[in-house]
Amino acid sequence: MSEIVEKDIMDIIRELKERGLDYSDEVFLITGGAGFLGSWLSELLVKLGSKVICIDNLATGKLSFIKHLLNFDNFKFIKGDVTRGVPKIDTSYDYVIHMASRASPDDYMRYPVETALANALGAYYTLELVRKNDAVYLLTSTSEVYGDAEVVPTPETYWGRVNPIGVRACYDEGKRFSEALAMSYYREYGLDVRISRIFNSYGPRLRGDGAYGRVVTRFILQALENKPLTVHGDGLQTRSFTYVKDTILAHALLLKCERCRGEVINIGNNKETTIIELAKLILELTNSKSRIVYTKPREDDPRRRKPDISKARKLLSWNPQTSLREGLKKTIEWYRRGYK
Ligand code: UDP
Repeated sequence: MSEIVEKDIMDIIRELKERGLDYSDEVFLITGGAGFLGSWLSELLVKLGSKVICIDNLATGKLSFIKHLLNFDNFKFIKGDVTRGVPKIDTSYDYVIHMASRASPDDYMRYPVETALANALGAYYTLELVRKNDAVYLLTSTSEVYGDAEVVPTPETYWGRVNPIGVRACYDEGKRFSEALAMSYYREYGLDVRISRIFNSYGPRLRGDGAYGRVVTRFILQALENKPLTVHGDGLQTRSFTYVKDTILAHALLLKCERCRGEVINIGNNKETTIIELAKLILELTNSKSRIVYTKPREDDPRRRKPDISKARKLLSWNPQTSLREGLKKTIEWYRRGYK
């Protein structure tokens, strides 16, 4: 178990307690609960005294992220694939959180059908479950729904500019469909639905290996192994990187936010960084001798991505607290200590 993760989780718990929020004795179902964000959320809720049922097919998630939670009576892991439905167990749920999906472009482009269905069918099966349980539904969506946005910083009211038949469509349109379906259940059946749109979250447990690797952790691994950092295209494309502790705190708040019923909320850092700046910062912080190499640009790669977070500020009283430098230092340290 990693001290870095444990300390961040304790900080989140302290903040939630200060706000007087109580999660104990509530039952949560989390699809994708062994993934990067899923395992953080599972760990947080288990330590807050909730009962957590985690479903994951381990396509990108890892048992090592949740192994230590198996010792807790209030945590249960079921290996299952949401494209085939939600495994039936004799429990009623207070909250259902649908997070299961591949999220790395190189990875989802290898499995586009599975990715589209994990989002679309996964949303359908979990929403049906919520209908039967009268639970709160949280869908974790993505900044990808905005595609190559022409309005930056991008507010939730922007409709997006997405290529519906492009190589990223399995993910972009998969998420857009799951948002549309969740809102349809909200309108037709009055379900208590909340949707987050997550902007490039990173931190310990974000995979950096092979096709699973997202840019932050891929660069960190490359730098630590003194291999070239592979910048796609000119490196002037931007992302707004959000440290996982900030992302997870926002989601814990969203679960308890009464005013957020039927709302979609951007969760991200409002500091925009170019990929080349990121590469240079990682080289500096790792003291690496790696070179930077420029590789061919990714198809349909969004040029700029930066959220307008006024809605999250207002509804959740939340602000990202962790600077990129600080978050990178923790992530680098996690990888240096040999965690993967
Ligand atoms: N990227 C890069 N080199 C890599 C991986 C990614 O330059 O080895 C760039 C990618 O082209 C994109 C950004 O980093 O502009 C973020 O990529 P990531 O795979 O993390 O996911 P995305 O934000 O595109 O969903």
